[in-house]
Amino acid sequence: MVQEARCVNCGFNIEKDYILFINGTEYTFDSFECAVNFVAPRCAHCNSIIMGHGIKHADEMFCSQICSTEENHSPVVP
Ligand SMILES: [Zn+2]
Ligand SMILES: [Zn+2]
Repeated sequence: MVQEARCVNCGFNIEKDYILFINGTEYTFDSFECAVNFVAPRCAHCNSIIMGHGIKHADEMFCSQICSTEENHSPVVP
């Protein structure tokens, strides 16, 4: 029996799937975009997907120093 794979992000039926292991749990995606969408954190200020290191401030993630400063009204010491 062939098990149908579905993208956990968009629910699309998958032929060529991407499988990612996060903390020991297997996730299946139909595209790298969906994987990034599902996994990557988002900037707490502009909601951009953070692909790089990002900036963490007070338990929130920001895409850049500008967003962090605008949200917190004070510069972040790295
Ligand atoms: Zn998908
Ligand atoms: Zn941002």
